[in-house]
Amino acid sequence: MADDSGPPDNGRPAAHRDPMATAPAGVALAFTGVGKTFPDGTEALREVSFEVRDGEIVAIVGPSGSGKSTLLRMASALTMPSSGTVAVNATAPGYVFQDPTLLPWRTVAGNVGLLAQLDGVPRAERRRLVAEAISLAGLTGFERHRPTALSGGMRMRVSLARALTVRPSLFLFDEPFGALDEITRQRLGQEVVRLHGQERFAGLFVTHSVVESVWLASRVLVLSARPGRVLAEIDVPFDYPRQPELQFDAAFGRTARTVSEALRESFA
Ligand code: ADP
Repeated sequence: MADDSGPPDNGRPAAHRDPMATAPAGVALAFTGVGKTFPDGTEALREVSFEVRDGEIVAIVGPSGSGKSTLLRMASALTMPSSGTVAVNATAPGYVFQDPTLLPWRTVAGNVGLLAQLDGVPRAERRRLVAEAISLAGLTGFERHRPTALSGGMRMRVSLARALTVRPSLFLFDEPFGALDEITRQRLGQEVVRLHGQERFAGLFVTHSVVESVWLASRVLVLSARPGRVLAEIDVPFDYPRQPELQFDAAFGRTARTVSEALRESFA
């Protein structure tokens, strides 16, 4: 169901995407000439075209209000484009955003199992999925904790684990680590790369951090100020797995500089 009212509850993606096309083989997500104008006349995006191939992480940077969240919401069928096509090759993309929206009365395990429970997965199978996701997200030992007893970084791990239970082939990240301190942010970035190495999902990762975009992605899209258009598409020439030290490499610095310069233009 599409609406324009806010992020999906509990990271749960929209169940139906009937008006949306299916992406060609090998492509997880394709935007073709996509524009979005809201009913109040705000033109958020104009003629946006790009692809995220299977198993690839693409990062998006751009000024506030350039339509990054709107773009992710269209990728998960929460908002429909006004023009152009959004084609997706995943029945239920995982959606991870800055506010993990955990249920405070449920334990970590209870929160992680929520999507599978809502999907009617039988209890025994759910237990297995939850145990696996908890282990993947580095939450072993915290199963019985309540969210209020956790740090922001650990709550974000719960959010990641919850999305992992449905094994999505496509992950949408809406600046998930923006509210965290730098070290936690780096650690979680490393976790995303590690999980990506294991699970091989495709990912579209919105961030305000140029370093984070280059570190995570194999391509970085730079959006212009509103209405958002793709100003630059920058290849990141480093193989996975990537070590944290890569950030101090001269080649990394050059790529980050290219992204920064394009981003500076987007503010112009
Ligand atoms: P970003 O994520 O890049 O900060 P958004 O996608 O949140 O940008 O918003 C892009 C533009 O569209 C902004 O100007 C925002 O105010 C506007 N916008 C977002 N949602 C709505 C809506 N439901 N109705 C009207 N305008 C909206």
